[in-house]
Parts: sequence; C-alpha cells; structure tokens
Amino acid sequence: MTIMPSRIAQSGYNAQTFVREKLASTDPGEPLAIGVDIGATAIKGAIVGTGGDLVEAFHGPSPRSVSALHDFVHSVLQCAGRPVRGIGVGCKGIIDGESSRVNSLPGDLHFLEGRLLSEVIAADDVPICAENDARTALIAEVLWGEARGRRNVVMLTLGTGVGGAVLVNGTLLRGSTGAGGHLGHATLDPHGELCICGNYGCVETLFSSRAIESAYWAHLHRAAPTRLVVDKAGQLPDTEAIFRAAAEGDECASFVVNRALGHLAAALVSFLHTFDPEVLILGGNIAAAGQGLIAPIKDTIARRTKIMLGREIPIVFQKIVGYGGVTGAAGLVFLQQRLLTIEK
Ligand SMILES: [Zn+2]
Repeated sequence: MTIMPSRIAQSGYNAQTFVREKLASTDPGEPLAIGVDIGATAIKGAIVGTGGDLVEAFHGPSPRSVSALHDFVHSVLQCAGRPVRGIGVGCKGIIDGESSRVNSLPGDLHFLEGRLLSEVIAADDVPICAENDARTALIAEVLWGEARGRRNVVMLTLGTGVGGAVLVNGTLLRGSTGAGGHLGHATLDPHGELCICGNYGCVETLFSSRAIESAYWAHLHRAAPTRLVVDKAGQLPDTEAIFRAAAEGDECASFVVNRALGHLAAALVSFLHTFDPEVLILGGNIAAAGQGLIAPIKDTIARRTKIMLGREIPIVFQKIVGYGGVTGAAGLVFLQQRLLTIEK
C-alpha cells in the first residue's frame, strides 16, 4: 500500500491533510464508481469496482463548507483517470435518496441541510446519488459482506454517533418519508440526556464515542480517582484510551465502559425483538474492537431474547471495515444502474 498525499495537491483540496492510497489495479473494462462518505470528523472517498474492491482510497478532515465538499469529490474524480458510472454519497442525517436532498442534519455538517448533494457536487454529466451513511454501510455488507444472501438484517454503526439501517424482506427500511431506521435515536432512557436530535435519552446519548468520552470527562471534572488525564494540549481521553484503561483495571474507565455496554445490550435486545433479523451487524470505529466488545454482553443478550426469538441471533462485525460507507455508496450507483442486484 502506497500513500501519496502529494499528487492530490494539484487538484485543489488541502494537500496537507488529504491522503491518497493506491490499493488495487483494475481490469480496464470493469465499471467503476466513486463512493464518498461524509462523516462528522472525516470525509472518505474511493474509486470502487463492481466487485467491491477499492482501486484507490482518499481521506481528509470533514468538510466545513459546501466548497470544501465540492473540491474533495472533484479531486477524487480527477484521480479516476477514466469515466466512472456515477458518484454515490453517504451522509449523516436524513437524506432523501430520490432527490439527494439533505433533509435534516444537525451538528457540524448543518451547512448541508436543505441542499441537494447533486447540486453541491455538480459533476456535469456524471450521475450522483445519495443515501444515509449507515444505509450505505449496510448496502456494502449486503452486496459484498456479512449480509450477502440475507433478507432480514439489522446494522448499527458505532462511532461518534450511532447510525442504524435495517433490511426487511430484502428491502432497505426507509419509512414513509425516508427517516425510518434511525436506530441510534431510539429512546433508551426516558429520563436521559438531551440528544443532538432534540429527543432525550437516545441510544446515541448512552453508547457512542461522545457518550463514553463525556461520561469519563464528568468523572475527571468531579475529581474522581481516574488513571487517564487531560493532556497538555487540553485533549480529553478518547474512547480507545478509555477501553484500554478499563482493560488495564482503571476503576473509572471500567465503570464507564460497563455501564455503556449495559446500555448497548439493552438496545440490541430491543432491536432483535423488533426486527427478528437473521443477523445483526456492528460497524463503525468502536466496533473495530471486534468480539472483545460484545463478549461481556453476549450472554445477557442471548438470555433476554431467548423466549421471544427462540434462538441465538448471530452478532457479527462488518466485513468492509474503514471504508464500508464509501464502498456501499459506490454500490448504490451500481444498484441504481442495475449493474448489480441484491440477492434475494
Ligand atoms: Zn437522538
């Protein structure tokens, strides 16, 4: 794998922070699409083949303006070197897949709210489609990963926030207006804290990087005995450090992690009861910890779902790690152009 941040400088995006990785060669006849995943802390892009292989991958800091997003996508487009079938965009928030309009997007990416992503990106005659980022991550698993051949699947992406996507009888759950399936905003604690969505006690307020880090910070602020501290640059301990400290016996970290995992278990039980899936897939940064993440709660989940479901539903981890949302966004292009279909 070669990292080449320099060539991208010619195309206008911030060369200091934009990283390009050449990953695979491709058959000159293979259709290609560009996938883009706009996240809260990073933007990722890739040139993707119909086999789900990443030909080249790109990442940079999350855009903070419409023009920064436009420039990122056009930088990737220039690197493709030959025509692509389309550009698929996965984005946080409520995205209208028909029009590519960002209907609701609170937080740092709020500047995109009300905008058509096809207009923001404006790539002449290259078709542009868009979908919520958790759904694009699920599309990647449906086409090339753990959900292949499955008809009923629940997926949660555990990161800065919690994304949700559901496949019901082989069809992505969208609801009547496209807002359906946002499992991260299911109420888990009716007396819980205010969420980015305006509701209180959402799953995301109890199990996400932000929830875990702010819970640890609350202990630091109360001067409770903690092993981790704020560093010289004022940076708070991150989720990875908190999980590591818990494994090493830090009482505060153990308390925060165990409580968060208890909430995750409760949420997963509810989703298994609601959707009765063949498999539940966990993705996102926190899920990169793998089986070690759910080992402490696996028995609890199995016990609590046994009577209703009569079996233990496999909880697996996304196969397409790191660039799942990006790959699935390109998959959306292939699906719309009928170059690929969902196996049913
Ligand atoms: Zn919420």
